[in-house]
Amino acid sequence: MHSSEQSITDDSNRPDDSKLIENNEPLPPHPMKWNLAWRDVTIITFMHIGAVYGIYLFLTAAKWQTCLFLLLLHTATMLSVTAGVHRLWTHKSYKAKLPLRILLVSFFTMAYQYSCISWVRIHRMHHKYSDTDADPHNAKRGLFFSHIEDGC
Ligand SMILES: [Zn+2]
Repeated sequence: MHSSEQSITDDSNRPDDSKLIENNEPLPPHPMKWNLAWRDVTIITFMHIGAVYGIYLFLTAAKWQTCLFLLLLHTATMLSVTAGVHRLWTHKSYKAKLPLRILLVSFFTMAYQYSCISWVRIHRMHHKYSDTDADPHNAKRGLFFSHIEDGC
């Protein structure tokens, strides 16, 4: 779920957040309202049910070739997140030629972490506004919000 879907209730008495963020001052306490994206909750729920069933099949019925293919695909997908959208596109830590970029973005589509552009935007916000209300992974809002609510 994207942080842009979050809503903060009772904004009428709050100071201008953008000035507080620019001054790096903490925001005053205020009530937060959960605004769940039910489409994403449904998809994530079914994906995890499928994952549990997949683990069961992995351990009981799958051929070793299938298990090997899964492990290779899982590794490639995780590398597309860490080396691709995180290090290459978000932080521009290195440069890659077109074939590698196509490969990374192809595997990234299997990670189900939204689009590359969304991932990069959200992660840049995370670093820029770390541990403030503007941080989509704000750990001060709890484990669910920081790890699951955003989806990356
Ligand atoms: Zn980062």
